[in-house]
Amino acid sequence: MTAHEVLSALESRDNHQAWLAAWALIRSPNAALDRDYVPVLDRIRTAVGRLPEPERPAVRDSRDCVRLALRIVEARSEGRCRCSVYASTDQILPESQAQHGLIDILGTRDIPWEPEFDCQCTDCGARYVVRENHGYHYPWAAWSPSPR
Ligand SMILES: [Zn+2]
Repeated sequence: MTAHEVLSALESRDNHQAWLAAWALIRSPNAALDRDYVPVLDRIRTAVGRLPEPERPAVRDSRDCVRLALRIVEARSEGRCRCSVYASTDQILPESQAQHGLIDILGTRDIPWEPEFDCQCTDCGARYVVRENHGYHYPWAAWSPSPR
């Protein structure tokens, strides 16, 4: 998805399109966020505010991840790294982030249902301990700054 397609999808007022676009944005490194999305932060904020209520009940409101994408662009506009937002959500899964080159996984502890990861942001070098949980309807992850 190009940045132009992401913006169009966010402005489509279609929650599924916006959800796809939000993930494309969330999977962007700082340089791409700064180039493609920070200059249009106001457009993104307006588009997110115009998304309709979900039509049917779901385990989770798909707009949550669209709002997360918005918070990531807001963080960049304030000079903070994208990863500064990760501790505020449970939707960022370490292995997916690593596949997109956004973090390095430095270590893994195979605890049943709750694997733990030591992660480092590839943009700013911040380290996190991430506890993942696979016991619910969908996996979630809790990010905390690493004590070391
Ligand atoms: Zn970072």
